[in-house]
Amino acid sequence: MKEHIGKLASLNVLVVEDDKFQRLALIQLLKRIGIQNIVPAEDGQQAIEKTKQQVFDVILCDLSMPNMDGLALIHQLGDNNFMGSILLCSAMDESLLRSSTSMAKELKINVLGAMCKPVEPVKLLRNLLKYFDVKQRSTDRNFSFELTSADLDAAFTNQQIVPYFQPQVFLKTGELLGYEALVRWKHPTYGLIPPDSFITLAEKSEQIIELTEIVFRQSIEQLNLLPEALSAVKLAINVSPKNLENDVVQAMILNLDKKLNSNKKQKITIEVTEQSAIKSMSSALEILSRFRMHGFNISIDDFGTGYSTMEQISQLPYNELKIDRSFVSKMDTDTNALIIVESCIRLAKRLKLKTIAEGVENSRQWHLLKRLGCDYCQGYYIAKPEPIERLPLVINSWKKTYQEEINERALEDVQAIELLSSEPVQVLSPQI
Ligand code: C2E
Ligand code: CA
Ligand code: CA
Repeated sequence: MKEHIGKLASLNVLVVEDDKFQRLALIQLLKRIGIQNIVPAEDGQQAIEKTKQQVFDVILCDLSMPNMDGLALIHQLGDNNFMGSILLCSAMDESLLRSSTSMAKELKINVLGAMCKPVEPVKLLRNLLKYFDVKQRSTDRNFSFELTSADLDAAFTNQQIVPYFQPQVFLKTGELLGYEALVRWKHPTYGLIPPDSFITLAEKSEQIIELTEIVFRQSIEQLNLLPEALSAVKLAINVSPKNLENDVVQAMILNLDKKLNSNKKQKITIEVTEQSAIKSMSSALEILSRFRMHGFNISIDDFGTGYSTMEQISQLPYNELKIDRSFVSKMDTDTNALIIVESCIRLAKRLKLKTIAEGVENSRQWHLLKRLGCDYCQGYYIAKPEPIERLPLVINSWKKTYQEEINERALEDVQAIELLSSEPVQVLSPQI
């Protein structure tokens, strides 16, 4: 995020606030942060007029205002297909900020954050910096082309389907635990295509079988080549519920593991995504139980989202629970998210499951998770998913960050305590 600070001067910001004194205070704050292009508006109606005259990157928006309030403004921005981001601030309670955020997201508007008044300079800066990441992600997502099964077949043949690896580390020590393999399509015209753009396509046919095989085979082959210092015990692979409908993929994985991983260099974890889509429970139970008999671990992916259900958790032979990044990446700013993460960890411990948090993006989240007794974590704070040849670089860079972490720990711990809500969340001791 720090790399974006220099770009702040180029942002066009609209400040919508009815109270003159607060409006001026916000403008002063923005100027101090380095924003130069600031336009004020006194209510929603004026804001809409301004957006017709000029394109804004960010709209800083109060919620309660006379004439047209913040909610009506958001609604109107949604109708007008506003392409920038909004940042909410209000003196009302947090739950109102949360529901307004959800409403904006439903209208497909990017929300950088929601801040209680009086606005703190650090929070304002942190939220504004998110603009550049959101922008990058939406550029990444905007594919204007249609991929077909024939394209995917060609990709298999031409070896364009490759695994990237994202490190997973121990929260207690920062040491490397293993890697999650995340598939990418190296397209000759469109560049690197992320999995969300083609997994559903593969799942519509038997292609998901071939995709899983390619990812698994290549991951083991590539990780086998890593030098000792970088090799890790765990390889996590994603398995679609479609792969659990019969034993074809199971047999293939067990065979490949036997052939390529004979010294058991990598212990395999199967991450089951979208449990709710499992069609035949008896088949999934048999397959996952057999994996466990062969020494594999099974992880509940995306825990806490609609994709995983409590009923299945009590039935399927899981031994790891992976807390979804939608909670983890805002647990330091949203008390509800923090409480959900804390409850997931508590539940996992009672069920004797290991916990892993995905989507850790900063040191505050790291420290909170550690205090809550989470076992492992994964996220951009440690490293992004990378091709095998970049792993030495990113692991070394993580080691350095972790070293700095230790030095800054005392300070961060204090911040972490402050962040735990006024009604403190119970911190679990790691040995429970
Ligand atoms: P997932 O299993 O939940 O994987 C985590 C996703 O979060 C990955 O997206 C990863 O790049 C992203 N991520 C990790 N850390 C952070 C972070 O700190 N911040 C943010 N914003 N994102 C983070 P990716 O690689 O685009 O994968 C998306 C999904 O595609 C995966 O979600 C998984 O469900 C699916 N997928 C990926 N590879 C495979 C595969 O080989 N087979 C199957 N069936 N599905 C796969
Ligand atoms: Ca996963
Ligand atoms: Ca997830």
